Order: sequence, then C-alpha cells, then structure tokens
Amino acid sequence: MASIFTKIIQGEIPSYKVAEDEKHFAFLDINPNAKGHTLVVPKKEENKIFDLSEEEYSDLMSFSYRVAKALEKAITCKRIGMSVVGLEVPHVHVHLVPLNAMEDIQFTKKEKLTNEEFISLAEEISKHFE
Ligand code: 5GP
Repeated sequence: MASIFTKIIQGEIPSYKVAEDEKHFAFLDINPNAKGHTLVVPKKEENKIFDLSEEEYSDLMSFSYRVAKALEKAITCKRIGMSVVGLEVPHVHVHLVPLNAMEDIQFTKKEKLTNEEFISLAEEISKHFE
C-alpha cells in the first residue's frame, strides 16, 4: 500500500508544498515543532534512510540543503536543525526545523497554525528555493 507521503506526492492528499524536483518533494509538516518545519521526502518509497543507496542518500541531502537555504531566508530563527526519525511514517523523510531553542528539535512542543499561516509560510519558503 502506498505510504501517506506517496499519496501526498501524488496529490491524493493535500499538502503545503515548498519545493519539488524529479526525485524529491518538500512540504510543511502538518504538526510542526516550529513555524516552517518542513519534511523532505524522496519520491521513491523506502522505509529507512540507510536503506537508500549512497547516491540516493547524497541526492536527498543535496536537495535538503537547498530547502534549508530557502528556510534560512524565509524564517527568522537562530539556525535550521535537521533530524531523521521515521518512527511514525515509514517513508524516508528529513525534518528541517527552524530552531530558536533546544526544545524545537525535541518533537514535544508543537505549534498550532491556521490554514492561512501554512499557505503563507509555504509561499514564502518556496519563493526563496533555488
Ligand atoms: P516521524 O515518522 O519522523 O516520527 O514523523 C513523521 C512526521 O510526519 C510528523 O512530524 C508528523 O507531524 C508528519 N505527518 C504525519 N502525517 C502527515 C500528513 O498527512 N501531512 C503532513 N504534512 N505531515 C504529516
């Protein structure tokens, strides 16, 4: 069965898209640690990050780098944190989280955003994606 992220990539489930290329898709986390929390996903469905080939892993990191650069321009924060977990969704994804405090990367404190806030954040980040 297709993962929830494959359904998002295929447009069957809506998302706040930030960036896309042939092999990757980036969108806002629906339950963000902080404003701008973005997930970067390879379109190829693989469960665990280290089951990717070395080339696929490097491609994912390069794409994540470009998304992180856009986040740095779009969101005021101390730095962009990066984390890979995957305990909830078994489809590889990189969390990129704008950080101001250690708890922003601990997946405990969550930010409640309106639909309008999600839309404007996604627009602002994608504007800076190169
Ligand atoms: P992990 O698998 O790394 O533990 O966490 C999965 C992440 O995916 C969580 O931060 C969760 O909020 C996010 N997530 C789960 N389902 C959806 C969804 O349908 N849409 C979006 N945008 N994010 C999701």
